[in-house]
Amino acid sequence: MPNLLGGSLTDSTEGSDNEQISDRPESLLPRSKRRRFSPLKVANQIPKRRRIEIEKALEGSSGTPKKWSRQSGPKNHTFLRKRIPPGSIRRLEFDLLSVDIGESWPVPITVVHGARPGPTITLLGAVHGNELVGPLALTYLSGPNFIGSGKAIDPEALSGTIRIVPIVNMPGYKTKSRYMPDGRDLNRSFPGKPDSNTSYRVANRIWNKIIAGSDYVIDLHTAAVGRTNMPQIRANLAHASSNRIARSFGIEAILDNAGPKGSLRRVTNDADIACVTFEGGGPDELDPESVQVSLYGILNVLRSLRMIPGHPSRPSFRILASGSLWIRSDQGGLLDVLAPAGSFVDEGEVVATVTNPESPSESHDIVSPTRGLIICSATNPFVTAGTPVGHILPVSKGVQTIRKRLDEDDCLVISGADGDPVWRDDDEVEDITVDGEWSGGNVDAEWSTNPPTGSDEEAAESDPHQ
Ligand SMILES: [Zn+2]
Repeated sequence: MPNLLGGSLTDSTEGSDNEQISDRPESLLPRSKRRRFSPLKVANQIPKRRRIEIEKALEGSSGTPKKWSRQSGPKNHTFLRKRIPPGSIRRLEFDLLSVDIGESWPVPITVVHGARPGPTITLLGAVHGNELVGPLALTYLSGPNFIGSGKAIDPEALSGTIRIVPIVNMPGYKTKSRYMPDGRDLNRSFPGKPDSNTSYRVANRIWNKIIAGSDYVIDLHTAAVGRTNMPQIRANLAHASSNRIARSFGIEAILDNAGPKGSLRRVTNDADIACVTFEGGGPDELDPESVQVSLYGILNVLRSLRMIPGHPSRPSFRILASGSLWIRSDQGGLLDVLAPAGSFVDEGEVVATVTNPESPSESHDIVSPTRGLIICSATNPFVTAGTPVGHILPVSKGVQTIRKRLDEDDCLVISGADGDPVWRDDDEVEDITVDGEWSGGNVDAEWSTNPPTGSDEEAAESDPHQ
């Protein structure tokens, strides 16, 4: 049995052997009390071919598009057939469905149109109706603590336009459901069709009326049912303007991924509009850290785009990940997670234990297959053999840099979650690349337990989680 308190791993097979019966009390100690062990694997990186793609996409992408050149004068912003004068705030409602009778599902939108010209950025929450970090963060952002004279978003000082939509999937939100009332996943339905099913109609109206006129989109999500995410950004880093706002968000973990078919991120990028997905926390819950980090990131993006005054904060490092591994239970029973989302773990470290009421004297360890950062972990303790219990980014570079940002439980302190933000030049940020492929084809493919109805093959395999 591995002595995690003081000894080294005595048998290299034990680290991955969940058959063992563990009766040791050490696993109940705080994680920080347990000893680190295991050698490093060879350094890995985003694969060369992908790096070349990303570098190529970034070439010649700087400069301000003419359409919102700072030299042009202020203009009215036309949105949903309303004219919004420069330097003003408007509260609007947008109907998800265009009907004469029956439910139209109006959603509230706040538009802040700056006194000075600039880009249009659209901020979305609850495309999945039960993911509440976005609604909470964007409701705060729409309110008087953030918007107004002398506040972070001052219409008189703002360059460009901010559209804030705290709740996109209003019917799902009201029924505490991820899905639309027709059982479909709105985030697999873009760009939609006007004469098709309900979700496609809604997606198409959102696409035409809200997304198409945007230069940048930030879409706020949480993990799906039964798990929770460490705050992270997902973006196609080979899409230049998405790459820019992914980095300028100012947090540590960026997952390079185009997004599943029909997802807002993928379809938006296909139309050459920048889009990143923020993920943090879990559904049906308040996750104050994720709310705080998402607001911090949005303000960083606005500063970086020079829409609002001030310097963007930057993290001391970024993990640019193109691959991941799943940690699974090999037993059935009740899970006790020792290394939750955000934990930095070593190869062979016990990340969770499984017990079963039928044999209460037995406890099985689940160990990490690699050193890395756990970006998502199970919150539902019920597991069967094969159930994923954690999603890990293997890390072999920058380990010392990462360790400096771990708390006493070896959890990463995400920028924006603690204290005053730090200003850094972008070239002072250490980029740490993570190699590989997304296990199962997409970032969260393995979590898929509830494929959307009426979906194609890819959607059935895809991530229910973005
Ligand atoms: Zn989501």
